[in-house]
Amino acid sequence: MSESSLTCDSLLRNATIAIAGESPRLDAELLLSYVTGLSRTSFRAWPERQVTATEARRFEALVQQRASGHPVAYLLGEQEFWSLPLKVNASTLIPRPDTECLVEAALGLPIPDDAQVLDLGTGTGAIALALASERGRWQVLACDAVASAVELAAENAQRLNLPVTVVLSHWFDNLPAGRFDLIVSNPPYVASGDHHLGEGDVRFEPSSALVAGDDGLDDIRVIVATSPQRLSANGWLMVEHGFDQGNAVRDLFRKAGLVAVETRRDYGNRDRLTLGQWPG
Ligand code: GLN
Repeated sequence: MSESSLTCDSLLRNATIAIAGESPRLDAELLLSYVTGLSRTSFRAWPERQVTATEARRFEALVQQRASGHPVAYLLGEQEFWSLPLKVNASTLIPRPDTECLVEAALGLPIPDDAQVLDLGTGTGAIALALASERGRWQVLACDAVASAVELAAENAQRLNLPVTVVLSHWFDNLPAGRFDLIVSNPPYVASGDHHLGEGDVRFEPSSALVAGDDGLDDIRVIVATSPQRLSANGWLMVEHGFDQGNAVRDLFRKAGLVAVETRRDYGNRDRLTLGQWPG
C-alpha cells in the first residue's frame, strides 16, 4: 500500500464508491471511525491524516462486507437508540429511529409514577431501556422468545446500568404472574411474501423478528387478544405495526375490548403504532 493510499481522505473516497447504497459516505466514516478510534469530524478537519496499514486492511475488510449488504450496525456491533448506545448482533432486529415514536407516545400516557411496564419481544432491549432511562420509578420487565436476545438485552441493561429485568418468554407464555399498567411491543409484523424482505438490512436480520404470517398480523393478533388478561384496569397496550396495518390493528384492539383506540404516525408521517386502554 502506498503512503498516499493510507490517508483518511483517500480511504473514505474509495470506500464511498465501493459501498454505494443509500448513505455510502456516512457508512464509510462510521466504519473508519470504528477501526481507528478517530472521530468523524476529524476526517473533515484533517483529511490527510494517515492511518496504519493494519487499520487500513481492517477497514477495507469491513467496507467489503458493507458493500455486500451487511448492516453497518452489525459490523460495528452497536446502534444508538434514544441516545443510548446499544450492543446489537444478528440474533435481533436493529433498533429503528421510528420506534422512538413509540417510546415518546408511551412516555406521554397517563399512568402511575410507579407503573408496572412490560416490553414484549424486546430484542436488544431498546424500548424497555429507553423507558427505564426516562422513568426511574417504573418497574420495567422485558421478555424475548430467543435466548440470545434475552442475553443481549440483559447485557445492555447492565452496561447502561438500567434496572430492566429480562426473561425468556414467547409473548405471555412464561411471564411471572401479575398485571401491567403498560404493555408495549415492536413485534414481527412483515407479511411473509413482502418484497422488502429481499432488500437492504432486513436481509441480514432474523426473520423471527420480522415475519408474522401471510398478512404480517399473526403475532399482533396473539398479543392483542391476550393483553386484557394482563392489563390493570385503565392500563394501556401499545404496538408498533406496518404503515398499512392501522385499520386492521385498530379492529383487533376494539374486538379485544380495548377503548380509546388510536393510531399514531412515525417520522415519515406513516401509520406506525396503535394504542388502546383496557377499561377493566
Ligand atoms: N420496521 C421494520 C422494517 O423495516 C419491521 C420491524 C418489525 O417487524 N418489527 O421492516
